Amino acid sequence: MEKRYLFTPGPTPVPPAVLAAGAEPIVHHRGADFREIYASVLGQLQAVFRTEADVLLFTASGTGAMESAPANLCAPDDRVTVVSHGSFGERWLAICEQHRLDVHAIRYEWGERPDPSEVGSAVRAAGTRIVFCQHSDTSTGVVSDVEAIKEAVGDATLVVDAVSSLGAVPLETDAWGIDVVVSGSQKALMAPPGLAMVSVPEHVLAKVKPSRSFYFDWLRNKKAQDALDAAFTPAVSTIRSLDVALGLLLEQGLPAAFDRHLRLGRATRAGVKAMGLELFSPDDDTAAVVTAVRAPEGIDADELLRHLRDRHGVTLAPGQQHLKGKIFRIGHIGWFDIFDIASAVAAVELSLTELGADIERGAAVPAAFEAFERPTVGA
Ligand SMILES: *Cc1c(COP(=O)(O)O)cnc(C)c1O
Repeated sequence: MEKRYLFTPGPTPVPPAVLAAGAEPIVHHRGADFREIYASVLGQLQAVFRTEADVLLFTASGTGAMESAPANLCAPDDRVTVVSHGSFGERWLAICEQHRLDVHAIRYEWGERPDPSEVGSAVRAAGTRIVFCQHSDTSTGVVSDVEAIKEAVGDATLVVDAVSSLGAVPLETDAWGIDVVVSGSQKALMAPPGLAMVSVPEHVLAKVKPSRSFYFDWLRNKKAQDALDAAFTPAVSTIRSLDVALGLLLEQGLPAAFDRHLRLGRATRAGVKAMGLELFSPDDDTAAVVTAVRAPEGIDADELLRHLRDRHGVTLAPGQQHLKGKIFRIGHIGWFDIFDIASAVAAVELSLTELGADIERGAAVPAAFEAFERPTVGA
């Protein structure tokens, strides 16, 4: 069997103990065995979400938890604001449009960071009470300042997509007053795909409208979770895995995880720049989740990714929508270390050379190690 390397920003590699937990015998979801795991995972989710609020856990991909927000918070024709600066912002727009909301979009160029005061003014001008945005838009590598966005939108309900950022970069749900946070199991939480979560505090639950989703009905799911008696059959094995993964994350500590992501971002940027490539994602420490890189002159990024996968067993992520073929993305979310980054940049260097690109050879890996070792501010 050929060795495979997964360097994508989701799904991400999973520690062996997490995989092993998923291979335990199936337990019944209404039995005492599962209730113990369920209670543990829900408590650990609150710790990672940095909230006292209920974190509702769904068997779904991250998009399921995203869709649960307009389904529970809005009625048709309700006016909402969506801040979009990448493909996941476009997803909020598509979801809200499918729910027949009166959608007011604030669009930025892909790769730009939203300006919080501009968002605040636009929300006031439109008179919206609900705002959807991304923390990390994984399509570009941009991490937005959701603390400042919340401040700027005041008492409008802010719904933040933190699917790729939760556990990778600081997100203080309660301290920053973020009303609703959405995440998923398969990114920085180091678990397999298949689970989605949403934190919903009492003051938001008090405002829900009759749910337009049966499965994702927040009140039904909260009532069931309160009794540790899931509303529907959950993915028990994946929940076991997530419980172990969250335990590893909390044991290491969130500050250590954030510091590692920041250093891995630095290492990746230093590596790709050292071989002469141009970054698409920001060239600063905010870009700690995923690094997006422009393909060099004459090289199609998708062809590079095919070559990496077929020739070397290395999987990176492509550009999405209009960035298809133009950029590629290296994830450093979750269970990544400096050797993964060294392997990723070495593989890019080798493949580009094999494809005939004119790049600097031999500089990327030392540059990555050097940047990783540099002390971080306050460390
Ligand atoms: C991965 C991701 C999602 C969810 O995608 P699913 O495929 O539904 O799990 C949503 N938002 C962002 C920013 C993501 O990175």
